[in-house]
Amino acid sequence: MRVILFGPPGAGKGTQATALAERYDIPHISTGDIFRENVGNETDLGVKAKAFMDAGDLVPDDVVIAMVEDRLNQPDTGNGFLLDGFPRTAAQVEALDEILARSGHSLDGVIRLQVDDGELMTRLLRRAEEQGRTDDTPEVIANRLEKYEAETEPAVVRYRKRSILYDVDGEGDVDEVRDRVLEAAAKAEQS
Ligand code: AMP
Repeated sequence: MRVILFGPPGAGKGTQATALAERYDIPHISTGDIFRENVGNETDLGVKAKAFMDAGDLVPDDVVIAMVEDRLNQPDTGNGFLLDGFPRTAAQVEALDEILARSGHSLDGVIRLQVDDGELMTRLLRRAEEQGRTDDTPEVIANRLEKYEAETEPAVVRYRKRSILYDVDGEGDVDEVRDRVLEAAAKAEQS
């Protein structure tokens, strides 16, 4: 199963990704988590990414793409993978296509979680209090949502054209959303 979980910051990708990855026994690859780990360990990659993350800007494509390619070449992706937070730009969509083509694989589906803007802001501000993420301040959140609208959302068109985009209502109870996500994944797997 090769699947992408797509959606704006605060849509619940992390939570739903955990359930999906467990169900299909595939690694959950979150570019945000990888970056945060590298920032925490002060690696070269972390140093490169930190200023962009703190501002709510996207890390440059070449940095992200090299990191994801390296991660997808790890042996645990033999059975597939779940990407969370990647791709986020048209260039990243193209790069992923090339990486997959080189390994003779294709994507089963792109599951997009949809949540209303007002609800996203409420959730992100709540998470800021609970987790203290440095990129969860109101200004940075607003910038991240803007970047999503401007750069990430348009990139999804390519997946819609290929009929592998599955829209899921991301509002409501976490368990209900999980059931919808799993239902979409089952459809993606069959098609
Ligand atoms: P996330 O946890 O997915 O919201 O990611 C946190 C931050 O990491 C983002 O605001 C970006 O600065 C950076 N980041 C994560 N994934 C990507 C990506 N695919 N492209 C560019 N920047 C990314």
